[in-house]
Amino acid sequence: MSLRPETRVVSLGRPPHEEESSLNPPIVLTSTFVGRGDARGVRTYGRDANPSWDPFEEALADLEGAEQPAVLFASGLAAVSAALSLVPQGATLVMLRHTYLGTVAVARELASRGLLTLELVEADGGAGLVERIRRPAPGGLVVWLESPTNPMLEVTDLPLVLAEARRSGVTSIVDNTFATPLGQRPLLLGADVVVHSVTKYLAGHSDVVLGAAVASTPALRERLVQQRLLGGAVAGSFEAWLALRGLRTLALRIERSQENAAELARRLEAHPAVASVRHPSLPADPGHAIAARTMDGFGSILSIQLPGGAEEADAFIASLRLWVSATSLGGVESTLERRRRHPGESPSVPPGLIRLSVGIESVDDLWEDLRRSLDTLAPASPEGPRDPA
Ligand SMILES: *Cc1c(COP(=O)(O)O)cnc(C)c1O
Repeated sequence: MSLRPETRVVSLGRPPHEEESSLNPPIVLTSTFVGRGDARGVRTYGRDANPSWDPFEEALADLEGAEQPAVLFASGLAAVSAALSLVPQGATLVMLRHTYLGTVAVARELASRGLLTLELVEADGGAGLVERIRRPAPGGLVVWLESPTNPMLEVTDLPLVLAEARRSGVTSIVDNTFATPLGQRPLLLGADVVVHSVTKYLAGHSDVVLGAAVASTPALRERLVQQRLLGGAVAGSFEAWLALRGLRTLALRIERSQENAAELARRLEAHPAVASVRHPSLPADPGHAIAARTMDGFGSILSIQLPGGAEEADAFIASLRLWVSATSLGGVESTLERRRRHPGESPSVPPGLIRLSVGIESVDDLWEDLRRSLDTLAPASPEGPRDPA
C-alpha cells in the first residue's frame, strides 16, 4: 500500500503490530551491547549503533525516498561535517554565498588547510550552477545546495541543477532543512546525499539538537556511518526519541505554519512601514516561479527589512510581545532575529534583515503583535531600505 506523507509521518518507525507490544518504540539507554567472540555483530558499542536511532533513521529515509536508513548525528552541523568529509582531497567545492553560515565555516576551515578549494557563487535560480558544473575542475567538483537559502530565501531549481550534476558525474549534496522532505525530495532528483538539521522542522519543538544525513547508496551510507563512528558525534537516545515524537505532527505543523507565513507575508508587504518582504509565496518574489514549479508549498520562513536598518530592526524586535527574539527556526512557536547580529553571518546579508520563523499560533495574534509595533514606525521610503548593503 503506498501511503501519503501525512500518513507516513504518523505510522513509520513503530514496532510491529503485535498483541501487547508497545505502540511506540522504547528508549534504550546503554553504552554497550553484550557480545561474545570477534565483535562482528551490528551492535557492539554505543558509538556504532543504538536501537533508539533506528525508528527515526528508517522514517526519515522513507520520507526522503532512500533505500537505506538515514544516519543520525548529534547535531545538524555534525551531519554537515560528515557530508563534507565526502569531498575528495584537492576537489573544488561549489556552494551558494548564502549557504547556512555554519556550513560555510566548516568549508572555509577545510579550505584553509588546503584540503579543498571553496567557490562561493551568487544565487540566480540555478543557471550559474549548471554552467559551473559543465566546466571541469582539476581534482573534481562537488556541489553543495541549499534551497531556499538561510536567511536570504533564494530558491534554486533543484531538478535542473541535480540533473546536470548527475549527467556530469559531479557529486551533489543538498541541505534540505528548510524545505523538509514534505517540500522537496532531492534524492529522487539525483542528489547523492541529503543532510538535515533535525533540530528545526523535523523535531519541531525547540527542545532537541540533532542532525541526519541520508545517502543515495549503501556505499555512501557506510562512509557516513564511519564518519559518525570516528567523529564521535553520536545522537543521544532521548533526543532520537523526541525527534520521532516531533515528526508525528510534521505534516500538520508545516501545513499550518506555511499558511500563516504566506498570510503574514501578504500583510507585511501591504504595510507602509515595511521596506521589503521576501517569501517565495509572494507572486513578485524572485523565487516564486521556481518554488511554485519545483516545491510542495513555500515554507514558513520569511524575511523583512525596515527602512531604518539595523537600529530600527533591533528596536522593533524588542517591542514585540508574542514573537520571541531567538535564533534557530522551525519550532511550533514564532521566533525572529536580525541575522547580522551573528558576527559569522555573511556581510552580503543586509545589516537590518530580520528573519521570521513562523509557528502554528493564530495568524491574527501573530499579525496583531507585528502590526502594533509597525504602526509606530515611519513609512518606508519609496526607494526601499536605507541599509548600506
Ligand atoms: C540550523 C541549521 C544547520 C545546523 O544544524 P544544528 O542542528 O544547529 O547543528 C544546518 N543547516 C541549516 C540550513 C540550518 O538551518
